[in-house]
Amino acid sequence: MTTPHSAVASIRTELLIDGQWRAAVEGRVFDVENPATGDVLTAVADADPADGDAALAAAVRAQASWARTAPRYRSEILRRAYDLVMSRQDWLAEVMTLEMGKPLAEAKGEVAYAAEFLRWFSEEAVRVSGDHTTTGDGANRIIVTREPVGPCVLITPWNFPLAMGTRKIAPAVAAGCTMVLKPAPQTPLSSLALAGILQEAGLPDGVLNVVNTTDAASVVERWMTSGKARKVSFTGSTGVGKLLLRQAAETVMRSSMELGGNAPFIVCADADVDTAVDGAMAAKMRNMGEACTAANRMYVHRDLAATFAERLAARMAALTVGNGLESDTEVGPLIDSAGRAKVQRLVDDALARGATALTGGRLPEGPGYFYPPTVLADVSAESDLMSTEVFGPVAPVIPFDDEDDVIDRANDTEWGLVGYLFTQDIDRAFDLSERLEVGMVGVNTGLVSNPAAPFGGVKQSGLGREGGRVGIDEFLEYKYLAVPRRQGRSIARS
Ligand code: NAP
Repeated sequence: MTTPHSAVASIRTELLIDGQWRAAVEGRVFDVENPATGDVLTAVADADPADGDAALAAAVRAQASWARTAPRYRSEILRRAYDLVMSRQDWLAEVMTLEMGKPLAEAKGEVAYAAEFLRWFSEEAVRVSGDHTTTGDGANRIIVTREPVGPCVLITPWNFPLAMGTRKIAPAVAAGCTMVLKPAPQTPLSSLALAGILQEAGLPDGVLNVVNTTDAASVVERWMTSGKARKVSFTGSTGVGKLLLRQAAETVMRSSMELGGNAPFIVCADADVDTAVDGAMAAKMRNMGEACTAANRMYVHRDLAATFAERLAARMAALTVGNGLESDTEVGPLIDSAGRAKVQRLVDDALARGATALTGGRLPEGPGYFYPPTVLADVSAESDLMSTEVFGPVAPVIPFDDEDDVIDRANDTEWGLVGYLFTQDIDRAFDLSERLEVGMVGVNTGLVSNPAAPFGGVKQSGLGREGGRVGIDEFLEYKYLAVPRRQGRSIARS
């Protein structure tokens, strides 16, 4: 039996079903590892499909009464949860760094970002509005109301273990939906800690059910094809997103998909190079590059390309790589050996096709899944990393000469989550932003994520938006009541 690491010892590690923490039916558990050391932090319950079924049944049972609760009641639960998360920011950050690897300062930033979704949707819960009009012929009232969509399947990835959860849970709570949540098996502890906090904040039994499992395919397929879950909200890879969409088709479930990206980062000839390098550091190095919003292809006008690459390489080379718990660490380990092997394969492919590593590019010795910050110059358009999400601290710099050509190259991908644009000309900024086939554009900034903004992509980067004023819409249905007007005089009768 594993002795839990002291920072995670207070987290319940069972399944949360109908307000009760309980072991998996078969009694199985799986280990959660620290990617910086390979040490086992603790073991959590490993659900099988029968546990998943019980969790969905609890969500279904709770749905009708939860839907009828007052918006202010749901709002205040979220607001209390926000306060609790922020009062435990340091502890939640430590848990996140332990299970996911990101440096403590970034983990604290994610806790605050995650908490903001709780606060934002506590405010949105009481602002859901409908509509009231009259039919054109005056004979009927049209009363439009909003209702919760019903029990939801929420599936989250490991890269932002807390924020990807609150970005779904908070609008679902605000809208009056119940949920089954399946966190990523690499990082279940942040979700379990959050579930405990939501209980403490007063969330009724059965509203949020948490199912950790190493058998996602079986557990989730049962949910998707049950006909009882009415909505799926998924963040993860495009491949799994497509599989879930096929399953959702079976029972015509509402679907929100936050999938992969291949973000272009464009530096125009008139850009301020230092602003662009600052933006590149944010867009590339946040989360060690393990972000769907990470700049994947850096297109820099030929006049600036060498200067930009040199300054970026100097900044990247100066970063301190290490265990995220150490105070001077700026870059933590990647999530696991498969993630790191993928990064190395993409770098080796680019080097073999003529790229030059200005810094990094080689695997370090020793334990942990560390990868050095890497800048590659003169990357060939045929390199695999031009068409693959690298998900690591690797910045390929590609010179361009012509704006029309760079927009064509930027859009030459099946993805369309985010793009970044650096220019000092406001007309160019608007023109190029409009021509980029993406859901979000960072103009002279490398950071777009904000709870008040609609996050999401076009093309194969997803469906729907999370956050902003529209985030709650993903969890609401319209209902229209046709009510005849007693005194109404139709056109025909007048
Ligand atoms: P992933 O393999 O798709 O996993 C994401 C989640 O889906 C995990 O919880 C995973 O659990 C689960 N899953 C895998 N196969 C499943 C199946 N057959 N049925 C149901 N669930 C299944 O993605 P990842 O590699 O962990 O995460 C990185 C990806 O997420 C990247 O592509 C990134 O761009 C994307 N992402 C997108 C956003 C966004 O907002 N657009 C944000 C963050 C990340 P298991 O691991 O147990 O299989």
